[in-house]
Amino acid sequence: MNRYCTSCGAPAAETDFYCSKCGGTVQEKTPVALQDWQKPDNWLTKSILVTIFCFAPFGIVGIVNAAQVNKKFDAGDLEGAQKTAAQAKKWVMNSFWVGLVFGILYSIYIFLN
Ligand SMILES: [Zn+2]
Repeated sequence: MNRYCTSCGAPAAETDFYCSKCGGTVQEKTPVALQDWQKPDNWLTKSILVTIFCFAPFGIVGIVNAAQVNKKFDAGDLEGAQKTAAQAKKWVMNSFWVGLVFGILYSIYIFLN
């Protein structure tokens, strides 16, 4: 049981080594499509943290994206959810680095005065 084509995800018989539909290799595990079917990290908590502690404008963009990740996932739009999560991550990291640079510059400014 639980043998699937690694190319198209079609279930295969115990005795099949190659998929009857596409000729792909059959393996004893869950279909490729189902393995990817996990809720992506929505970055919401991190978005809020960088909004408070780092660079707020970028953090807010992160929050807006993060808020849509679960909505898209629940709607069955896995690809959209993953893309939105990637956007949220990008803005969280942008906010983090900008916040870090500003923090360092501000520290130098305080130090020199
Ligand atoms: Zn196949």
